[in-house]
Amino acid sequence: MYVKHVFFCKFVIANLLKIIRVIMFKKGTKLYSIFNHKCPKCHEGDFFKHKLTYHPNKITKLHDNCPNCDLKYMLEPSFFYGAMYVSYGITVAMFVAVFIIAKVFIGLEILESFAAILITAVILMPLNMRLSRILSVSYTHLTLPTTPYV
Ligand SMILES: [Zn+2]
Repeated sequence: MYVKHVFFCKFVIANLLKIIRVIMFKKGTKLYSIFNHKCPKCHEGDFFKHKLTYHPNKITKLHDNCPNCDLKYMLEPSFFYGAMYVSYGITVAMFVAVFIIAKVFIGLEILESFAAILITAVILMPLNMRLSRILSVSYTHLTLPTTPYV
């Protein structure tokens, strides 16, 4: 009996990342649609018109409706002004994480840590902008009991 529990615990620990990925990021979950840039409702249609790029005109171009289920992405005019607040939250969390990693774990000086923050912000800027938009749409559709905007 004890051996079975030890074996099970070793199996869980060894495959923890795979288990988390299967449970939380499997197709049909909100996290799947957020991190794969898919429609928050059907998880099939693409959210953005272009792949992840640094081209300023292509970063945030998104479809008006889901190509698969016809869900309207932009619910009202100026809907994505709210994404600015989401982007701000993501950026602050990222800045704090990068600063702690650079200062505490790597041991960089304060100026070097801020340089690391700046470089990370520039590198992850398109991902941040896209995540903030898709999070806004996902959260809105998550909180609505039904979607009257289709
Ligand atoms: Zn869809």
